Amino acid sequence: MHFFEYKNRQLHCEGIPIQEIAKKVGTPFYLYSYHTLVRHFTVFDEAFKGIPHLICYSVKANSNLALLRLFVNLGGGVDVVSGGELYRALRGGADPQKIVFSGVGKREDEIGDALRAGILMFNVESSQELQTINEVAGRIGKKAPISIRVNPDIDPKTHPYISTGLKQNKFGIDILRAPMAYRLASQLPNLKIIGIDCHIGSQLVEVEPIIQALRKLKELVERLRKEEMEIQYLDLGGGLGITYEDEEPPHPIEYASTILEEVRGFGCTLILEPGRVIVGNAGVLVSKVLYTKENEEKRFMIVDAGMNDLVRPSYYGSYHQILPVKEEIREEILADVVGPICESSDFLAKGRKIQNLGAGELIAVMSAGAYGFSMSTNYNSRPRVAEVLVRNDQMFVIRQREGYEDLIRGEVIPEFLIKK
Ligand SMILES: *Cc1c(COP(=O)(O)O)cnc(C)c1O
Repeated sequence: MHFFEYKNRQLHCEGIPIQEIAKKVGTPFYLYSYHTLVRHFTVFDEAFKGIPHLICYSVKANSNLALLRLFVNLGGGVDVVSGGELYRALRGGADPQKIVFSGVGKREDEIGDALRAGILMFNVESSQELQTINEVAGRIGKKAPISIRVNPDIDPKTHPYISTGLKQNKFGIDILRAPMAYRLASQLPNLKIIGIDCHIGSQLVEVEPIIQALRKLKELVERLRKEEMEIQYLDLGGGLGITYEDEEPPHPIEYASTILEEVRGFGCTLILEPGRVIVGNAGVLVSKVLYTKENEEKRFMIVDAGMNDLVRPSYYGSYHQILPVKEEIREEILADVVGPICESSDFLAKGRKIQNLGAGELIAVMSAGAYGFSMSTNYNSRPRVAEVLVRNDQMFVIRQREGYEDLIRGEVIPEFLIKK
């Protein structure tokens, strides 16, 4: 985290005081540190260098084109979950042969686009999807490379909303039914089986559940090999957690070495789909205090960023550290940090011990690089905020702040409603 640091009592991103960036672009805005992004990707990638592997960055964590290009330049592939993310990945310069397409509900047009682009593989989540991909591939005259996303029924011990590898979750094909799905795939003429896949959840703070899932996958691969099905790629998904407050997730090097022990010599190229662990702590959301108020029970700090800009606190009850951009000696108070949206769930922090900041002062909501901007919306007709990338002492606006025109793009008042 040392690319976001106080120098001369001013919180900096790399070589630039955040205050200065705010003066130029206004608030709120997302701010990313180039060197943090590079370091996180490189550390993760190098941790697996002992075996053939491919890091497919999970686009949904943060899908800005500049970030995608940055990871592509470092040799990364991408994991996409929609036609829109595929479009972004290609516009970001991703090598189609390093794109994997996940997602429980792929449409025919999305499948067609991916086939025409020549992606590495589809991570298939149902038998019906196998049939559909086979049909679309036949129409286009291509063979579709597939892996099956297996649901290993493992409790990842994370928030229920981001746990995906349990029987009760909608994701993947039950591991007991997976051999049947593979047999079906092997009989469909326009499919080529090349891999196996799982993704058990997000913000994992233990390696153990991943290893359990991996062992179940290996057993299945061995069984498939006996049936003469060649599995070249073993995709373990993403999910490694980060420190928001006091979580102690394994370091990527520890995570990798535990996995390497299990897969070395197994004869598969390993694919990993990290999202949060790469971008989460490389970004912050900068916001301005608009007002403060109190009643007998509570104090409120009302800031200009709301749940439409960063939904994680209201949606998952997530903790994000909040730092004053200017370091000063101030009284510590207990307050709710809330946004301007007309919802009681619009908060960035509840009952937080925080320095008593006044109107006009800036805050940095830390660890906001993942599932921050990418989950933001226009709710309450709020234009989406700007995104800024800093490299040393240079700043780049990598997404302009939306204007009011953007809010109504595509909307039409039918003729009959217009009085003549
Ligand atoms: C969301 C997702 C990821 C990335 O998860 P992180 O927790 O951000 O690493 C990877 N693979 C799939 C299939 C996903 O849905």
